[in-house]
Amino acid sequence: MTMHLTIALSKGRIFQETLPLLAAAGIVPVDDPETSRKLILDTNQSDVKLVIIRATDVPIYVQHGAADVGVAGKDVLLEHGGEGLYEPLDLRIARCRLMVAGDPNHQPRLSRPRIATKYINTTRRWFADQGRQVEVIKLYGSMELAPLVGLADYIVDVVDTGNTLKANGLAPLEHIANISSRLIINKAAMKMKHARIKAIMEQMATVIGA
Ligand code: AMP
Repeated sequence: MTMHLTIALSKGRIFQETLPLLAAAGIVPVDDPETSRKLILDTNQSDVKLVIIRATDVPIYVQHGAADVGVAGKDVLLEHGGEGLYEPLDLRIARCRLMVAGDPNHQPRLSRPRIATKYINTTRRWFADQGRQVEVIKLYGSMELAPLVGLADYIVDVVDTGNTLKANGLAPLEHIANISSRLIINKAAMKMKHARIKAIMEQMATVIGA
């Protein structure tokens, strides 16, 4: 019996940086997700498919077994919570930092500072663990705008070069976590398709030097 394997990936940086790791495991996609409108991509291996989805949806597909394996940023995994998943391998790609940022000269409101972010769970935990009372406002993008228009005192976002913050008069203030992409595996698939998944993990680990 052949065991089909479905791998969940997001477009863009994670897809591009995962390609060489998949290649090391002998998996080469037939279509390019940047130009194809297909959501399921065939690979050179007839029993391996890639599903191309939003980064925040990758752990959800893998948790529920709609994909066996996925690649997700640690920022997304912290926010998701990681239920139903194994996270066996740090792929060391798409690295950045999750930070609290703001205008260093801004005087925050004294009672409960407002924090705009798409990472509401991680943000609540970060401030609650320090006993700091904040109001968290959920946004879906362009967090840097929120402090500029008075929507929030601070933001929590991923920062790479810091250029986006700087261009908007903001600065990184507190370091929450180092971020990189992780290989994630559905718990049932890890049992049912163990040999296949273990081989992929080992081949990827060789390239990243883990
Ligand atoms: P920066 O290099 O700090 O100007 O980052 C540019 C933008 O890309 C920021 O607004 C971040 O939200 C986003 N970004 C940077 N690195 C990553 C990453 N590894 N994963 C996801 N988003 C990122």
